[in-house]
Amino acid sequence: MKKFPLLALALSISIFGSQTMTAQSRQFKTPAEARDFTEVSKYGEMVEFIHQLDISSDILTVEKIGESVKGRDLLMLKFSSSTFGEDKRKIKVLIHAQQHGNEQSGKEGALLLAQELIKPENAHLFKNLDLALIPQVNPDGSELNSRRNGNGMDLNRNHLIMTEPEVVALHKIFDKYLFEVTMDVHEYYPYGQTWKDFGYRTNSDILIGFNTHPTIPESIRKYQQKKIKPYYSAFLTSKGVSNAMYSPGGPPEQDYIRYSTFDINDGRQSYGIQNTFSFIQEGMNGVDALVDNLAHRAHSQFYGMLALLRFVSENHTEMQAVVAKERQLENITVPEVPLQMEHFPDGSKLELPVYSYSTNRDSIIIVNDFRPVVKPTLTISRPCGYLFPKSHQDLIDWAFRHGFEVKPFKMDKNTMLERMIISKIDSIDFERDTIAIPQIEVRKIEPKTINLEEYIFIPTYQLKGNMLITAIEPQSELGLATYSQFAYLMKVNSTYPVIRVSSNR
Ligand SMILES: [Zn+2]
Repeated sequence: MKKFPLLALALSISIFGSQTMTAQSRQFKTPAEARDFTEVSKYGEMVEFIHQLDISSDILTVEKIGESVKGRDLLMLKFSSSTFGEDKRKIKVLIHAQQHGNEQSGKEGALLLAQELIKPENAHLFKNLDLALIPQVNPDGSELNSRRNGNGMDLNRNHLIMTEPEVVALHKIFDKYLFEVTMDVHEYYPYGQTWKDFGYRTNSDILIGFNTHPTIPESIRKYQQKKIKPYYSAFLTSKGVSNAMYSPGGPPEQDYIRYSTFDINDGRQSYGIQNTFSFIQEGMNGVDALVDNLAHRAHSQFYGMLALLRFVSENHTEMQAVVAKERQLENITVPEVPLQMEHFPDGSKLELPVYSYSTNRDSIIIVNDFRPVVKPTLTISRPCGYLFPKSHQDLIDWAFRHGFEVKPFKMDKNTMLERMIISKIDSIDFERDTIAIPQIEVRKIEPKTINLEEYIFIPTYQLKGNMLITAIEPQSELGLATYSQFAYLMKVNSTYPVIRVSSNR
């Protein structure tokens, strides 16, 4: 069942050798591999390659999930031994790469993975899992080797405001299948001047990052750390791929080092906050951020993705049980939701694998100011929901892009309506940036003072409830109002347009 009306008609090129060979007998090479990784795979070549895999494999179905800003198809490769997503005994995994167009090895690794997975010796994986693989989220950026998409937007900072078609497409797919496991594949660039001046740089082929937002339960975070990490790390090491935890910040003595951001606007945490085993994999980019060391970079990414799939396949029952439990609404709808948080030390020191510019050798530095724990510094008792004014089309559109569940609103004797007034703007530190955060004055209002017909009600008792609260509360340091598109919401002495619905029980 191939539902992939290929643009192959428009693509007459073939880099797969003789047309007289049967598809099955072809020795596939990815477009970059066919040129010994001296050039990256171009968009058109990638599409053609994917089509060739598709017609030669029964477990692979290719689906167009959307279009980029410039009209390029976003392709998803669905690997399943049955009907994708329908066998409840199988765990569902989503891997996507190259949200950042100048991080080419994610795409190249994903194409190597696709080629590997259709081999009969990997069929056993698909007894236990269904995989959706999106090798290239940002084709427009990739073609120009630029980080941003066709609108000049950073896609991996767009998962909360969701203004870009590429990100909307990802979340539509996530919402459709509710993957239990996700991996977002990137590259880091360690050659910056600050670290050079410090005398060292990170030198691991692959870095792995986990969920850090504090509403994501410990059962998920500990499992990532204690069970998945050792397996993943050992597998990569056995393939000659050096690896470590993703720990941005520093250099030491100048700034602290932490386990990545707690923001939920990226591909990892936006799925993570829906209680998902969610990962970020960061390969080490080349010096030219293009083809330097590309073969090794692509294979390192490939082995990292394969390691995850092998672990998940072997442990699918246990992982499915953890996610199923934590996604029960009574578990995910935590009573206190963090609005502001900080990175804190836990007394441990980080042994950071580095390359020394002075000795030209790999080394380890001990980081004293290491802050691996995220703790809330401001929380809110969970509201029941929010009334969105229909007159604010941008807020309504935003809510619909996210696909929140909307419900008819009913007042009862325990319901309170709270109007929020921006009384003052403060600034706070947010992961070493300074951002504006308001102080608010909350006024209880009588329902008869507003026309409920002019509002829609979005309850927080839903899978995306924690994300909703984080986005809408004016004092949230991760909220909508911290984005330029919604900065107008934060004027002193103005009334916040969204009404908070609380319970006085
Ligand atoms: Zn990136």
